Amino acid sequence: MRTRLALVFAVCVGLISAATLAAQDLGPNIRKIKDGIYVYVGTNFNSNCGIVLTQDGVVLIDSGHNPTDSRAIFDAVKKLTPLPVRYLIDTEPHPDHTTGHFVFSPPAIIVAHAGAGESMIGREKETPGRIEKLAGVSPAMRSALEGYRFVVPQVEYRGKMTLNVGERNFELLYQKGVHSEADSAVWLPQERVLFSASGIVVDQINILRPFVTIPDILAASKMMKALNPEVVVPGHGQPGTVKIFEDTEKYYALLVERVGKLAKEGKSLDEIKKELKMPEYAHWASQERMPSNVDAAYKVVKGN
Ligand SMILES: [Zn+2]
Repeated sequence: MRTRLALVFAVCVGLISAATLAAQDLGPNIRKIKDGIYVYVGTNFNSNCGIVLTQDGVVLIDSGHNPTDSRAIFDAVKKLTPLPVRYLIDTEPHPDHTTGHFVFSPPAIIVAHAGAGESMIGREKETPGRIEKLAGVSPAMRSALEGYRFVVPQVEYRGKMTLNVGERNFELLYQKGVHSEADSAVWLPQERVLFSASGIVVDQINILRPFVTIPDILAASKMMKALNPEVVVPGHGQPGTVKIFEDTEKYYALLVERVGKLAKEGKSLDEIKKELKMPEYAHWASQERMPSNVDAAYKVVKGN
């Protein structure tokens, strides 16, 4: 009798854990942030995607690094809700956030800051054969690209915009000169969750294009910190807290200080690039981007 009871107990426990497993089986990249808010965290600093469920459908923040990610995100969405993806907010126009648009739109309406579509079109012209090359990466990539179309945002806003979907509010906040031609933070004020985009990354040296400035990055950091978010989801890297901003501020302060010291010693920009040492950040990924950081710091030091 005791054996039989034990067996029944074991079967029950097995069934319960199987049910729990099934509910959580959203794939290895998905992290739950809050009730109804999930993040697909890109592998190896690939871009992140926010999945926000509402009573009136799903809002995505970015569409995954590669179409294989976009398909995995779509599969997770279908497990979470029978409702459609209604909106897709782009935090930036680069291909690692936007190639997967076609997986979701239509029916999703894509929203981005002004200049996003133009940036996407420009890049598309500069890189002919991009999609064919991407398809050649693997059979899985080729199959994920089936039905590919180039889709630009249908809605572009300027400065600031509020999107109300179901019970949730999304505030879209432009960040000037931090990474691309059209960077948006997405703030959920009730849930205190901030999708902070790619001007500030985590445990990684960022690429600073010629139009990106350190003062603009610091201004965006200050603006986002002032929102007092509980959870910060960067465009790339692990979700965290406002510490992400504090770490970034510390890094740029030290960078500008060291570049300033070398400049004062009369070193040229090229010499500074060779001699600068930032051992505190040697463990950060993408060290090859450091010269672009020195360029930006040198502009600060020289006051231009
Ligand atoms: Zn980017």
